[in-house]
Amino acid sequence: MAAYDFERLIVDIPDYPEPGVVFKDITPLFADPEGFDAVVESIAARFADAGVTKVIGAEARGFMVGAPVAHRLGAGFVPARKPGKLPRETASESYALEYGTDSLEIHLDAISSDDVVLIVDDLVATGGTAVAQARLVERFGARLAGMGFLMELAFLDPRKAIAEATDAEVFSLV
Ligand code: IMP
Repeated sequence: MAAYDFERLIVDIPDYPEPGVVFKDITPLFADPEGFDAVVESIAARFADAGVTKVIGAEARGFMVGAPVAHRLGAGFVPARKPGKLPRETASESYALEYGTDSLEIHLDAISSDDVVLIVDDLVATGGTAVAQARLVERFGARLAGMGFLMELAFLDPRKAIAEATDAEVFSLV
């Protein structure tokens, strides 16, 4: 089967959200029924034999990719949310942004030590968001099966940052 041309439906937006940044707009790919299906199927296929029991996706685009991949794998979905958004007790991990820090939180009962967890997001840039989620998984004593992304900004070398935190497999479609 020919590889799906994901890039055809990803739009470069220069100088967004600030001058000098080229934002990758994935909304046309998700609005396309065939494209959306190809994203979900391709990530799920790579981890189909990994015994995944939970998928974690980070707010907000990680929900768009992570939830359908979880469903496809017959796994549960765990939202990693910005601080203060989840109603019950949470575990929290901070990560560095270009200026300052941010955190992601998940409910304390969302993952157990028996779980095999896959981290899914639309895009990995510096790897900070993915590493924060990997640290959360580790704190629950669960096994990290890998990380699946639609896009990887290889020029930012996220694999280096991720490899310092975990030896889990990193898979990107673009
Ligand atoms: P990182 O933590 O630097 O790897 O950034 C990854 C996070 O930022 C992901 O959750 C993405 O959704 C978001 N992100 C960063 N740049 C872009 C972009 O160009 N398009 C869409 N999402 C982006």
